[in-house]
Amino acid sequence: MQNAIDRALPELRQIETAVAATPVVDGAGVPLARVVGTSSLPLVDPFLLLDEIGSDEPQAHGAGFPDHPHRGFETVSYMLRGRMRHTDHAGHAGVVEAGGVQWMSAGRGIVHSEMPEPVRDRLWGFQLWVNLPAARKLAEPRYQEFNADSVVEEARSPSTLVRVIAGTTSLGSEGPVRGISTDPRFFDVRMKPGGRFAEEIPRGHNVLVHVYRGSVELGAAELQTGNAAVLGAGERVELRAGERGGELLLLAGRPLNEPVVRAGPFVMNTRDELLQAFRDFSG
Ligand code: MN
Repeated sequence: MQNAIDRALPELRQIETAVAATPVVDGAGVPLARVVGTSSLPLVDPFLLLDEIGSDEPQAHGAGFPDHPHRGFETVSYMLRGRMRHTDHAGHAGVVEAGGVQWMSAGRGIVHSEMPEPVRDRLWGFQLWVNLPAARKLAEPRYQEFNADSVVEEARSPSTLVRVIAGTTSLGSEGPVRGISTDPRFFDVRMKPGGRFAEEIPRGHNVLVHVYRGSVELGAAELQTGNAAVLGAGERVELRAGERGGELLLLAGRPLNEPVVRAGPFVMNTRDELLQAFRDFSG
């Protein structure tokens, strides 16, 4: 009987590694809080990088991220406040507004600029880098762009709202971003005091939780604003809001388990491929 009970209850994912975001400067002098892509958390396969950008100082981001290339992975921009204006060398242009998302598969390469535009002096958002499998690293670039109205909102209770950007929740809400190789979940979970959130995530996926406001309890641990946790093996994720409520990104993806050779804006599988990228974009 014990085995039957074990099979019936999904295993709870516990915190494996907890980190505090690291202050860094990137682009043309833009201060960021880096969650993934640091020496303490270099990779949560397939997630290569997670940055939070946020300030109420209008001058802090003025220089933005002028023209730069990418190859071999995907960049995801998700804004909470203010806007991010995007232009690429092929003439694609757009603006990610608050609550909206741009999921760009750079594939074999794009050169683009990303310029923050604070609204009422506020700018707050995230950039996530998602790796591409070796077979897709040189694919045609592809954009998926959705405004706030296209992001699916799932009210779990009066205290818990889930904004579903990618992936399908256990209640069947499907985010607008589709067809991504690593089968990602990108959920923005907003809990008021007393709020709870429970979700089944496929056992093979890696899971990252990043708290961007308030605090969040997971098991006996409490993650404060700016803290992130990689969760261990299991299926079920259970989160509770801290005293003042808690808001977080829950990111999950199927790991590629392929070699990662990265430098600056390029993420490839071998050193030769990386050198080729630098040659292709030099000049
Ligand atoms: Mn970029």
